[in-house]
Amino acid sequence: TPSKPALKIQGLTVSYGDKTAIFSVDANFPTASMSAIIGPNGAGKSTLLKAVIGVQPILAGQVHIFDNPIKNNLQKIAYVPQRVSVDWDFPTNVIDVVQMGLYRQVGLLGRMKGEQTSIAMDCLDRVGMADMWQQQIGQLSGGQQQRVFLARALAQDAEIYLLDEPFSALDPLIRREMQDELLKIQEKLQRTMVFITH
Ligand code: ADP
Ligand code: MG
Repeated sequence: TPSKPALKIQGLTVSYGDKTAIFSVDANFPTASMSAIIGPNGAGKSTLLKAVIGVQPILAGQVHIFDNPIKNNLQKIAYVPQRVSVDWDFPTNVIDVVQMGLYRQVGLLGRMKGEQTSIAMDCLDRVGMADMWQQQIGQLSGGQQQRVFLARALAQDAEIYLLDEPFSALDPLIRREMQDELLKIQEKLQRTMVFITH
């Protein structure tokens, strides 16, 4: 049954210089729904999600999360960016990347270091990457990096998941497992999922 939208986008317009990437986009994503944004390369899909979370400035429009302005509600969103071969020039290991997803909760609940590590390890286990927790992120394959970023999103335990082509570098078997993992979250925990795919 339709409920109030988890995510409501009204009249969203974004330009890069004098080039309009998306123009006056309206969209509603009901709570606990699973949606896909599809379209060819260059259509403006990634721009849309970046504008929603505020990393890309908007020219016009409004975004609401559960009927509240998105400002001050960003902690309800987990965002997985489109993979752009992560080329970390500083050493960051897999478990640190996943723990980044916990920073907001750490502030909120004052979690202990040991507890953070065990949550992060559990999330890595769910994407089949637990045995690589000490690896440098830059040394992993594209598909492995993608799974680590999915684990980080899982660690965030968010209301709304915005996932920009999260399965693009995964082989079919792993892709199926990741899809099942996200489906479980959506069905059991009634979270809202928005995927980009092309
Ligand atoms: P999609 O994700 O659907 O492939 P994008 O949102 O990445 O599309 O891009 C939409 C359009 O905006 C494309 O024409 C792209 O070239 C352009 N674009 C994306 N990012 C930038 C940027 N940082 N600067 C200038 N143009 C950009
Ligand atoms: Mg894109």
